[in-house]
Amino acid sequence: MANIGFIGLGNMGGPMAANLIKAGHSVSVFDLSKAAVATLVTVGATAAQSAKEAVTGAQFVISMLPAGAHVEGLYLSGDDPLFDHLAEDALVIDSSTIDAKTAQKVAAVAAQRDINFIDAPVSGGVGGAVAGTLSFMVGASEQQFANAKPILDVMGKNIFHAGVQGSGQIAKACNNMLLAILMTGTSEALNMGVKNGLDPKVLSEIMRLSSGGNWALELYNPFPGVMPNAPASNDYQGGFQTDLMFKDLGLAMELSQLSASPTPMGSQARALFNMHKVKGNGGLDFSSVIQQYQDQD
Ligand code: NAD
Repeated sequence: MANIGFIGLGNMGGPMAANLIKAGHSVSVFDLSKAAVATLVTVGATAAQSAKEAVTGAQFVISMLPAGAHVEGLYLSGDDPLFDHLAEDALVIDSSTIDAKTAQKVAAVAAQRDINFIDAPVSGGVGGAVAGTLSFMVGASEQQFANAKPILDVMGKNIFHAGVQGSGQIAKACNNMLLAILMTGTSEALNMGVKNGLDPKVLSEIMRLSSGGNWALELYNPFPGVMPNAPASNDYQGGFQTDLMFKDLGLAMELSQLSASPTPMGSQARALFNMHKVKGNGGLDFSSVIQQYQDQD
């Protein structure tokens, strides 16, 4: 069993750390929120007073933070950067969803200092974090990937080696851009069919089993009432928030800009999610973007 330092105990990090404890690892936790730390202590974590304390003596350090600035601040540029305090041979796994450029920058500094730092963003949402069924997309060397895998296996079901450092963040940006495009496209088609008199359940089934079939039609239909367990049938509560999809589309657009990769569909999807967000829907599940197409009473 390993000594693990875990930093960032929010909606995702909290349950991920809890699963490591459940599997028998010794986990020292830190978050700026004392309440988040206290919750983890009730399931067996050791409370650390600082990030530095959490990583002291840890064989693995895992971070689950909001964005690139937080990750760079924690490891490189903050008041007391963690890269100054790691145990020799520690493996740092950053599972936050951040821009690939920052992930590559932090990894490059780590490499210069002989520190093992890998990016391992996740897909699967809070439900996947609680159930331990996340998908991890890992940017690492072969050896680092092999070392991280037993720990990632505790928190996830599908562990992918995407390539060298930064590749995990690139894979995540590509996947979520595609998810946004297929959710808006599915919404567009469903709305047109229903406005022209079709039953949403019948149309969904036709498209699901025809050449338009996709993940949204299989598991996450955006039309209320078609799938009883989808967020659409629960006033778009739970699931994956519009705010987070908007953030991820921003990361995809940044990558598109930096690499001069044409992403006209991704740009359009981002514009739709932006309109949806500014109308006050940032807290709703992202499949509620279908409302942008629907007649408002
Ligand atoms: P969250 O806002 O719930 O949690 C972030 C936590 O980090 C908070 O508890 C905050 O106090 C803490 N924090 C921030 N700066 C810190 C610092 N310097 N030191 C210690 N703690 C600090 O966010 P979340 O939903 O858990 O998401 C975390 C990451 O996972 C994000 O990058 C997000 O994009 C990604 N993600 C989220 C989901 C989801 O469905 N929520 C799904 C996939 C990926």
